[in-house]
Amino acid sequence: MKNIKDYNLEELKNEMQHLGEKPYRAEQIFKWLYKEKVQSFCEMTNLSLTLREKLKNNYTISNFNILKKQESKDGTKKYLLDVLDGNAIETVLMKYHHGNSICVSSQIGCKMGCKFCASTGIKFVRDLTTGEIIEQVIRIQQDTKERISNVVFMGIGEPLDNYENVVEAIKRIQDPKGLEIGARHISISTSGLVPRIYQLAEENIQCTLSISLHATNNEKRSKMMPINNTYPIEQLLQACKSYIKQTNRRISFEYALAKDQNDNLEDAKELIKLLKGMLCHVNLIPINKIENGKYLKSSNENIIKFRDYLNEHGIVATIRRELGSDIEAACGQLRRKNL
Ligand code: SAH
Repeated sequence: MKNIKDYNLEELKNEMQHLGEKPYRAEQIFKWLYKEKVQSFCEMTNLSLTLREKLKNNYTISNFNILKKQESKDGTKKYLLDVLDGNAIETVLMKYHHGNSICVSSQIGCKMGCKFCASTGIKFVRDLTTGEIIEQVIRIQQDTKERISNVVFMGIGEPLDNYENVVEAIKRIQDPKGLEIGARHISISTSGLVPRIYQLAEENIQCTLSISLHATNNEKRSKMMPINNTYPIEQLLQACKSYIKQTNRRISFEYALAKDQNDNLEDAKELIKLLKGMLCHVNLIPINKIENGKYLKSSNENIIKFRDYLNEHGIVATIRRELGSDIEAACGQLRRKNL
């Protein structure tokens, strides 16, 4: 049976017609799913009992089970969610002064193989469906009863490798009839799938694009991120420039600082050369050590020096606050689990 959250409004209207129902029923169902966030068809009390029965017989509502919830000293919450097919994914809720941010997964596992990231160590299973991506936001909102104001696609998986479902999920998340979180409060992070960056520029979605850059030359970047062998830095930056030109949106470059690998002033100088004149921002991430990983965190002193050097040379850079590292909920620490 298909997950009812996998349909957009138009598709759900067609489904209703196939069930011999009026299309406006789809609007009512949408309200129950995305405004009331109900967990079962029985709760949709303005639908006839017959229709509720039909829905139950034809679709699942796919409410994920919360298998585990951990809370960090800093208030970050990490959820292990049962996606109801024998797999589990992690989703993280972070509290900032500007509101709650949720970090969603887009795939069960990841194919990218970045050497410093825990999401990649285990076998890739499959893409998450649109409904499953949105379900993470709904489930956590149900659990905390708090509003979520930001969604970042920075959990497990490479969002642009699951392009269609991710774009469809973003549309539903921002849709006033859906979860109604403004596109400017949605970020998508990519390891650099160049053709998909060009494609995303055409979508006319106002979300923020983050690029996991992490190194300033191909030799270094390819060692850290195998995807660089397919789409080297020059091609990646060309795609970014074209994205900025087309969307007029600022790009955010993520740069995880690893001790003695990419964190000295020479690296900062190269980074400035690469990004000079671009409408962008650099997000420095103190690298989080992962099991069996050879990359170590750069010293705080070094991270600050790196940031200051960029800022002094006209590149806006900030250091990403480390949230949830005590419960392995920080960048690069999320993993898929077998049940
Ligand atoms: N696949 C996407 C989404 C993951 S987002 C991407 O690569 O962008 C998670 C962010 O955390 C990315 O910028 C990723 O490169 C970074 N990251 C991964 N492992 C990390 C680690 N161990 N320490 C700090 N950041 C890490």
